[in-house]
Amino acid sequence: VASSIDIAVVGAGVVGCAVAYELTRRGGSVQLVDERPVGMGATQASAGVLAPYIEARAEGPLLDLTARSLALFDEFVAGVAAASGSRVEYRRTGTLDVAMQPETMKQFGGLAALLAKRGVEAEMVDAQAARSLEPHLAADVVGGLLIPSHGFVAASELTQALAVAARRLGAQVSDSGHVCRIRRSGDSLIVETSRGNLAAGRVVLAAGSWTGQIDVDGSERRVPVRPVRGQLLHLSWNGAMLNRVTWSERCYLVPWGDGTLLVGATVEEAGFNERTTVAGVRDLIEAASELVPHVWTAGFVSARVGLRPCTPDELPVIGPSACLPGLLYATGHYRNGVLLAPLTAKLVADAILDDRIDPVMEATLPQRFGKL
Ligand SMILES: Cc1cc2nc3c(=O)[nH]c(=O)nc-3n(C[C@H](O)[C@H](O)[C@H](O)COP(=O)(O)OP(=O)(O)OC[C@H]3O[C@@H](n4cnc5c(N)ncnc54)[C@H](O)[C@@H]3O)c2cc1C
Repeated sequence: VASSIDIAVVGAGVVGCAVAYELTRRGGSVQLVDERPVGMGATQASAGVLAPYIEARAEGPLLDLTARSLALFDEFVAGVAAASGSRVEYRRTGTLDVAMQPETMKQFGGLAALLAKRGVEAEMVDAQAARSLEPHLAADVVGGLLIPSHGFVAASELTQALAVAARRLGAQVSDSGHVCRIRRSGDSLIVETSRGNLAAGRVVLAAGSWTGQIDVDGSERRVPVRPVRGQLLHLSWNGAMLNRVTWSERCYLVPWGDGTLLVGATVEEAGFNERTTVAGVRDLIEAASELVPHVWTAGFVSARVGLRPCTPDELPVIGPSACLPGLLYATGHYRNGVLLAPLTAKLVADAILDDRIDPVMEATLPQRFGKL
């Protein structure tokens, strides 16, 4: 056993870094371990869009979780920026969800009614109003739904800042090698890695799509998280930029302060293959230029790819293991890991430091998938 620490967090993506930051900020003694540099899993590919009312279009736990996490964002980003001394691009520009077919406007009407009930501002706009909001939109758009409270954050900047802040507050962040197994030894949990063992009082498994590959002693099942590949384009823009995050059924566009545009994202079952493909890049260019023809004049910066950690019910797995006391899961955030990072960090810290299981965790506990 190399060292003894209170809490080991396995995985330095946006989720693990947020958990490590929150635990450290609240007095925990934390070691953050990963086999790759900070933020190099799914997180580096993320568009950073914060849009609960597009991601969850009906009442249910996903809407509750994402809306609650969005409400934490202003304070979360301000705290991380101050604690790390870094700048994190974060803007609440709103989203314009664009309809290319009349039937889509009917769905928008249903969503607008649901949002009105929740007291969330949303406005249906016709084709002319949509084009005056976003002059680059294609001539054949039918209308749209404007949701002013949505926004985006630079996911990589945020994740680096979280790691720096955690380190400044006392966390150790280390390249530990590959984590293979978690087991109990007396009062401690042992994290077995390819570079030796760590002992900790508690362990948080935040290893994204790979969480199910880590052996957990006493657990008959692996956490059912599978990789869902997403490709995304980074383009340099010419002329006047879009004013807000703009969606269609086939893609979304995110306008950055530096004059570049992100186009996301494919949704593919490709196992653990983290490669971009010609088909993925073509599909995104086609979808983006259908929505905004001016995309044809953009410069090509890069194509990114990441593996979203997806569960069978598409809800995250946040909560204690019933098989190995002291172990907690924080994974399975699928399409919304960045958006859900502040709430996940709070739920995990509440559970570890205050022994408090928030009622919203009824929907996220690992045991909904059996003895875990
Ligand atoms: C193209 C694309 C666009 C996206 N857009 C958005 C968006 O707009 N908004 C949003 O909220 N979300 C978005 N997402 C989803 C979001 O990126 C993920 O939900 C989030 O990054 C998951 O974070 P994580 O920390 O759980 O996992 P990851 O970022 O994958 O981090 C897991 C870490 O664990 C480490 N690890 C794994 N196994 C081991 C092991 N055995 N030993 C040591 N280390 C290990 C990995 O090296 C990695 O660093 C998008 C995803 C993609 C792919």
